Amino acid sequence: MNELQLDDFKTDENAAMVLLVDDQAMIGEAVRRGLSNEENIDFHFCADPHQAIAHAVRIKPTVILQDLVMPGLDGLSLVREYRNHPATKDIPIIVLSTKEDPLIKSAAFAAGANDYLVKLPDTIELVARIRYHSRSYMTLLQRDAAYRALRVSQQQLLDTNLVLQRLMNSDGLTGLSNRRHFDEYMELEWRRSLREQSQLSLLMIDVDYFKTYNDTFGHLEGDEALRMVATAIRDASARPSDLPARYGGEEFALVLPNTSQGGARLVAEKLRMTVEALKIPHIAPTEGSSLTISIGLSTITPKTGSNCRDLILAADKGLYLAKNNGRNQVGIG
Ligand code: GH3
Ligand code: MG
Ligand code: MG
Repeated sequence: MNELQLDDFKTDENAAMVLLVDDQAMIGEAVRRGLSNEENIDFHFCADPHQAIAHAVRIKPTVILQDLVMPGLDGLSLVREYRNHPATKDIPIIVLSTKEDPLIKSAAFAAGANDYLVKLPDTIELVARIRYHSRSYMTLLQRDAAYRALRVSQQQLLDTNLVLQRLMNSDGLTGLSNRRHFDEYMELEWRRSLREQSQLSLLMIDVDYFKTYNDTFGHLEGDEALRMVATAIRDASARPSDLPARYGGEEFALVLPNTSQGGARLVAEKLRMTVEALKIPHIAPTEGSSLTISIGLSTITPKTGSNCRDLILAADKGLYLAKNNGRNQVGIG
């Protein structure tokens, strides 16, 4: 991504690039002579009004001096054309007219001119007006560029914050929500369930004989098994409000808002069977076994004054029962 710096917009604010569009070469010569002793003023002359826009797009003037009466093209129409072209729409235009006529002046300003001078103006006045308009145009360009840079960096900041938020909430090994996010989410969902008097279910999931698994196959294989179990848990969470998380070590949790005990039991049983069906080879409880999980389940409709720890404690109790009754099963706490 291109990072714009304010320094990139630093240009010589006193420099001006003038484009005179006039069908009379004599006027072109006179203005050229008048500006020739001015420092920092570049002068370009265009005698063909049909080429004016193309010429302006090419040289990027900071001021356009525009004759009003030219054969074949009306100067005011040309002023409108500058205003409608994206490359010239903001360039200051000083209209040069032969007459001091309020009606013509008014029409010129209405068409989009910024200033009006009667030909041939005094050089001192012409230079003063060129410098004034050129400077305000440069300021406008700098301000626009700075705003663009600001928008780019604001967007980068938003993107970075999103990435950070995701990193802060997720577990490095499995990509599930981490304990921090789980705690936050439980708190939120507990309060929502209290308000709506809905049922909140929680599964606490623990890998069976995992210490033996690590001791037998090594920590890296252990990590891989945890990732596979995590994927099964992620796939088991069907609703957007379900939150799969790594609770710590080889323990996982699945928060199921708005879910009855019957519904949670179905999810838990399906998950247990999914992990069993992975057929990850294990040697515990017996040689030739597959890796399994035990699940503790609890469902509560929160009461005022109660705490979401109640739900976690109950799920823990269910997990303890599942372990005690022989593992690879769902216990209800
Ligand atoms: P039980 O069936 O009663 O749950 O027995 P267990 O062996 O699974 O339980 P225990 O709590 O004794 O052992 C858990 C093991 O999980 C011990 C630890 O080395 C392992 N463990 C915890 N976190 C990680 C991890 O991030 N990666 C790996 N590979 N192992 C982990
Ligand atoms: Mg454990
Ligand atoms: Mg375990």
